[in-house]
Amino acid sequence: MRKKIVAGNWKMNKNLSEGLSLIESIKAGLANGQGAGVEVIVAPSYVTLTEAVKAAAGSAVKISAQNCHQEENGAYTGEISTGMIQAIGVEYVIIGHSERRQYFNESSASIAKKINASLAKGLKPIYCNGEVKEEREAGKHFEVVQRQMNDELFHLSAEEVKKVVIAYEPVWAIGTGLTASPDQAQEIHAFIRKLLSDKYSAAVAEEISILYGGSCKPDNAVEIFGKKDVDGGLIGGAALKAEDFLALVASF
Ligand code: PEP
Repeated sequence: MRKKIVAGNWKMNKNLSEGLSLIESIKAGLANGQGAGVEVIVAPSYVTLTEAVKAAAGSAVKISAQNCHQEENGAYTGEISTGMIQAIGVEYVIIGHSERRQYFNESSASIAKKINASLAKGLKPIYCNGEVKEEREAGKHFEVVQRQMNDELFHLSAEEVKKVVIAYEPVWAIGTGLTASPDQAQEIHAFIRKLLSDKYSAAVAEEISILYGGSCKPDNAVEIFGKKDVDGGLIGGAALKAEDFLALVASF
């Protein structure tokens, strides 16, 4: 059965002490009963991960990295491998975020390799895809998402793909204040689930959580998360304040 998930992508925000204090506030809210039945994930910066894992231990909060390198080790100055991430107890890793594609030239080939490297170490990938504004305006969003999934995800076996969380994030909605309408989100989430069903099986498609991301906030989340094929959200800006993030966790 697909999980309901709210994942906070902190991006390049929050130093170590700020991050730990945010985790403590989230833990306190969850201990008060907010978000029962929801998988709550936060993705701090690399330098906070080790302490974040310790802070979250024994609570309902799970920790994700924001990126990884596809090689196991070697001369890749500044990079971090999936083995290093797994060794400190992190469970998830975000792969293919549009900011990585846009600012760091991540290709479909490297995204596919990062997914493989993550699964090989037992990390669960949160795989992001979605179209840019021009593609949406030209009505090409279905085509774009299908191509991304063909090139980046569909080399996996059914057993492997079941370990992946998909985050559909229309690039035009990320950090812009523009949000896909609940119907637009449902339409493309249903399309993604159909692609999964056609490639693997209806049963496999029913096990994969598909999150929406893009200016998701407490005031629009209830309607979006209420759609049949939306299993939660990948949240940027609104994940930086405990109050907002907890409200999102309570939006199902
Ligand atoms: C994101 O970066 O994944 C994201 C969805 O950001 P925001 O919520 O700020 O649009």
